[in-house]
Amino acid sequence: MASRILDGRWLSEQVERELRAEVSGAVEKGARPPGLGVVLVGENPASLAYVGRKEKVAKRCGFYTREERLPAGCTQSELTEKIHELNRDDAVDGILLQLPLPDGLNEMAAIDAIDPVKDADGLHPQSQGYLLRGGRMPSGNGFFAAQPCTPAGLLKLIDLAFSEGIYQPGEAGSEQLPETIEHDLSAALQPIDLSGKSAVVVGRSLLVGKSAALLLLERNATVTIAHSRTENLAAVTAQADIVVAAVGRELFLGADAIREGAVVIDVGINRNKAGKLVGDVDFGAVAEKTRAITPVPGGVGPMTVIQLMENTFRLYEQRMNERGEDVRG
Ligand code: NDP
Repeated sequence: MASRILDGRWLSEQVERELRAEVSGAVEKGARPPGLGVVLVGENPASLAYVGRKEKVAKRCGFYTREERLPAGCTQSELTEKIHELNRDDAVDGILLQLPLPDGLNEMAAIDAIDPVKDADGLHPQSQGYLLRGGRMPSGNGFFAAQPCTPAGLLKLIDLAFSEGIYQPGEAGSEQLPETIEHDLSAALQPIDLSGKSAVVVGRSLLVGKSAALLLLERNATVTIAHSRTENLAAVTAQADIVVAAVGRELFLGADAIREGAVVIDVGINRNKAGKLVGDVDFGAVAEKTRAITPVPGGVGPMTVIQLMENTFRLYEQRMNERGEDVRG
């Protein structure tokens, strides 16, 4: 069976196109644009690059953006005050606190300072509580709480892996991305029911592993979470129909860790000795035997960014609806 390369760049472009249409529809109706507030602390080069990319996509989507930068040596209360400023800014609907924070700052306390109705990253305890409840909201009538961007984005790649007729399979073992077929995304990409499928998530961070496991569970997969204390890891992952690798170790899972026909989602971003970005999975050794696999870069990363935009747009819709402004085109 030919392996399908799950092209996150392509998929995120499709989602972006739909979002742009929704934003311009709202603005044509006279509404203000959605607003994304970004807090960046310090000068970590990777964080600078991520924030730059997110702001660029936000602007392309037609969002208003407000960036707040703080020096690495700022105090916790200065950071809290900056977050509170964005909480109070009526033009901001979603807040992104770029992680990791520099040493000396308490990430959990900073996340807790975000107003949950503006929690675009889905990491506030209130959003996490709704995630644990399986997305069941208090009112049940359209209330929206964001889900963490990387896990929610990678679920769309799993949908793509199992969808039929919208995507050309990539060439087995090749890093060449496939030609893709234009299609109506919302009609084609339905949330897939994963009943009967086993999924192993390697990694248990709040940001990725644990949240991805909960989302897979909601789709009825039988989920195992593996971590640094798991014994015989390769034997565990080799049983799975779906493997999500979120470890942060270069080429950590090889051919022995993946079963024939598995769907492999590689979240890891690592820089190898040659300075090249590589994932947690040995793509060259594994791709050929998979049903579908994400490349690194160009797989999960772009989906994380576009999910942030989707979350922000949904939070915007919710805030506007509460004021009686219907922004649906
Ligand atoms: P964390 O460091 O928070 O978590 C890593 C997880 O991997 C931990 O749960 C840890 O287990 C587990 N782990 C570490 N060593 C082993 C091992 N030897 N065997 C099994 N499990 C192990 O990282 P994140 O979850 O934040 O990120 C994971 C990776 O994903 C990183 O490379 C990061 O850069 C990338 N990432 C990519 C994103 C994207 O958009 N593509 C977004 C976010 C992250 P334990 O809990 O026991 O220590």
